Order: sequence, then C-alpha cells, then structure tokens
Amino acid sequence: MKTYIMALDAGTTSNRCILFDHEGTICSIAQKEFTQYFPKPGWVEQDADEIWSTLLGVAVEAMSKIGATAENIAAIGITNQRETAIVWDRKTGMPVCKAIVWQCRRTAGYCDELSAMETPSYMRGTSSDSDGTESLPSLVDVIRGKTGLVLDAYFSATKIRWILEHVEGAREKAEAGELLFGTVETWIIWKLTKGRIHVTDYSNASRTMLFNIHTLQWDEDILRLLDIPRCMLPRVADSSGIYGMTDASYFGGEIPIAGAAGDQQAALFGQACFGRGEVKNTYGTGGFLLMNTGNTPVKSKSGLVTTIAWSIKGRVTYALEGSIFVSGAAIQWLRDEMRLIDSAPDTEWIAERVPDSNGCYVVPAFTGLGAPYWDPYARGCIVGLTRGVNKYHIVRATLESLAYQTNDVLRAMEKDAGIRLAGLKVDGGASANNFLMQYQADVIGQNVCRPQCIETTAMGAAYLAGLAVGYWEGTEDIHANAKIGRVFTPQMPAEEIARRLKGWDKAVRYSFGWAKEE
Ligand code: ADP
Repeated sequence: MKTYIMALDAGTTSNRCILFDHEGTICSIAQKEFTQYFPKPGWVEQDADEIWSTLLGVAVEAMSKIGATAENIAAIGITNQRETAIVWDRKTGMPVCKAIVWQCRRTAGYCDELSAMETPSYMRGTSSDSDGTESLPSLVDVIRGKTGLVLDAYFSATKIRWILEHVEGAREKAEAGELLFGTVETWIIWKLTKGRIHVTDYSNASRTMLFNIHTLQWDEDILRLLDIPRCMLPRVADSSGIYGMTDASYFGGEIPIAGAAGDQQAALFGQACFGRGEVKNTYGTGGFLLMNTGNTPVKSKSGLVTTIAWSIKGRVTYALEGSIFVSGAAIQWLRDEMRLIDSAPDTEWIAERVPDSNGCYVVPAFTGLGAPYWDPYARGCIVGLTRGVNKYHIVRATLESLAYQTNDVLRAMEKDAGIRLAGLKVDGGASANNFLMQYQADVIGQNVCRPQCIETTAMGAAYLAGLAVGYWEGTEDIHANAKIGRVFTPQMPAEEIARRLKGWDKAVRYSFGWAKEE
C-alpha cells in the first residue's frame, strides 16, 4: 500500500487531520470542532485535554477512512493555532488550568503596566534596537528588539505569567521543576510521545515573546522580568526534523513526528514561498500576510512584526508579518448583522452587478485596526454615501475593503524590507471569491496566484515532516506539487486605481480614534 504524510492541523476552533500523498493530493481528511470557553468578557479558554482527544480522534478517523495503518504513515507534521498557552504537570500530565487562547485579552492591563514601566537596569543596553542615541530604550523597544514582537497580550509570555500568579500552588511547583509550558504543538508532541518529548519549533517559539530571535535562545532577561522559570520551557528545535516517535498504542505502531510550525508560517511554507520577498495572504476570519525575508530579521518601522518563518537543518528563515483583524469577518457581518446577503459566496455576483462602489467605502475597523495602523480605538465606518448608493454598492465596497487593507500591509512590507513585491499568493476561505481576487490584483498592480489546493497550512506541515524523513527530497519536489489554480492579472488602469486608493486613505482616516474618550 501507498505511504502518506499525516498533517495534524490544530486550529483555533477545530482540529483536522489530512493524509497527503507524494503528489500533495489530499487522500483522506477528518475534522472535529471543540469547545470554546468565554468565562468573562474578553477571555477565551480551551480545554487542553479536549484539544488532544479531538486531534487524536480525527487522526484515527482519517487513517481508518482509507484503511491506512501506522506502516502507511511515513511521518507526522503538526501545525497549530499560535501563542495559546498550556501549562501542565510533568508527572501526572494534567493541565493546571484551561489553555489561555491567543485571542484572550486578560493580560492587557498587565501589558499596559509593563509598557509604562522603566526599563530595568539589567535590560538596559541590551536592545538590538539601539540606534546609538543616548536616551534609554523603552521596555517596549527592548522587547521588540529581542523578540521582534509588539508588547501585547496576544503573545504567550504574559499568559504564562498569569497562570503562575493565579493558579494556586502553580508558582511553587513551576520553580520546583514540576510544571511544563507548551504552545499547542508542544502539548500534542508531549502527548503523542507519552511525555517523553518536550519540544517546540523555532516558528512557535518566536511567538511566545520569550524567545530572542537574534541569539535563538530563550531570553533570560525577559524570563526574569516576567518571573517565569526557565525549567518550564521546551527545547527549541528545527521546524523540520524528527522529534521522536509516537507511542505505539495510538496508531498500532510507532510513527516519526518530524515537523512542526505555527499555522501562518506553515501556510507560507505550504505556498512554497521559499524565496526572499515572496508573500502570501490568508483571507480567513482575519487576514494574515507573511513575507519571507530570508536569513535576516527585518526590523519594521511600519507596525509589522518580525518573526521566524521556519528553521531547517539549523538555518533560520525570517518573515515580516502583518495581521488584519477583520477580513472574511466583514463578509459574515454583511450576512449576519446587516442581512444584505444569504451566504458569503453570494457577494461575488452581487459585487459584479455594479461597475463600482459608487463612491462608497466601508472600513471594517470593528475591533480597531491592526497593521499597519495599530489603532485600538478605530471603529468601522461607511463613508461617501449619496442617494444613489444601494446594497450592491455596499456589498462591493465591503469586499473591496479586504483588498485595500491587504494593499496597505503589502506596501508597508515593501517599505520595511526594501523589496518590490513580485506577486501575491493567496489562500483562506475568502480567496475563493473571484471578484475579490481580481480586484486584489488590480489594486496591488501585481499578479495574484491562487493554488489549486487551498489547504496550504496542512500542506506546509506535511512538507516540513516529509522533508525530514526523505519522503520528499527537497523544495524542488514541493514546487513540482504546487499546482496553480488560477492567476489573476491586473486589468484596471493605474490612474483609476490611484484615484480609488486616495479615497480609501481618506476613508480609513475617518475611522481613527473613534472610540477614544474625549
Ligand atoms: P478561519 O480559518 O479563520 O475560520 P476560513 O479560511 O475558513 O477562516 O475562511 C472563512 C471566512 O471566509 C469567513 O469569514 C467567510 O465570511 C469568508 N468567506 C468564505 N467564502 C467566501 C466567499 N466566497 N467570498 C467572500 N468571503 C468568503
């Protein structure tokens, strides 16, 4: 029988398992949602044991659907929701509390306190941000210099600290070496190996806000600042490489676990963006743009974060990342709150019913604006309304806003990296919309390339694992598998685009600062 690579995709709302063959074809797939807990406004939790049991369940299901046994699986690659923090007991394997999900804002207040703090003496002068000026770097700048990230509740660091501060007995046990921390892939590998392997990969480590992306070590200064014991942290390993074997009890035999990467980085890999300057955008609920910047971490001046894309054979590849909070979610808003459409795909023909948005712009800044604006007080607006604007125009303007927001981040990436974009690779739910993809190509004035298989996240994990065990020889094999679905080429005259972009810039400005108290 054939052999496959198993991709375990531990997402935010559901877990999936996909079995790929050598051509990168999906041969079997199973998926299951799991429970989300919202114990207080702004808090988001999950049950780590449920994450594990549903993921194991879909893995067994995907195998049994095609009668595959452990001998038919050459390796397992894992991709995961990033930043979510799990802390568990090394001996019993029991999580000490629910997993704190990346979306959870419970540590926002603590992050504000940190931002206002003077940089501790032991951290002064250690910033790679230092530009030679006399003034002391702020703590925000020091942390950004070390980790590439903005000091925010989004990343794992302050979530771990919260657990140590609030779960009874956790700090003492952690200091005694009895507790372990992991992001979701670490937890899954630990479970699959029955507690033998405690490891993370560079891409996930770089999202914790505890990892120095220049020295490639856990950062002792930040650990001291947050009072997090070093002994809780996993070993950091290549994104492609054998971490260990699954315990034989799960799949009826041992399988090598040979790859791991955070979901957005895995998508970049799955899109075969191996060259410096290559960019992908995922149009999901939110939008995530990543640009491969090669072996140099590029410091952003435009509100992007610097992150590790992956590491293979000890060679680290970096990326610039820009997140758009509301992308496909704006289409859900049209459907669920505005009730202008019955289903998301309907937006395509509705937008095509009118030649343009009739001067109307929708800025979906529902939860503030992410990159490159970073305005938590921005709120959504619809501007340019005249008596002739109808629902078709508003639907069209909403779709157009996804393209404009993407363009804003792309231009920031080009500026930061000093690289002219050569085209955009796309995936995610809303990339199925042909109107949107054509408009995106028009707005950026570059080709937009949509692959045949938009399961790029799982493919990335599969490729990382398959490369490690020799299932695929090298990136040429991956390029050979990367089948293009459709390429959208720019059609609209440049002057027309410039006129529309000017309107968008003006519209975005109306959303700034809206929720700020006077
Ligand atoms: P996530 O992984 O964040 O859950 P998906 O990649 O599954 O997201 O994409 C779902 C999003 O894509 C939803 O917000 C939905 O509104 C949007 N979407 C799905 N299909 C279309 C379409 N044909 N046109 C526009 N938006 C779409």
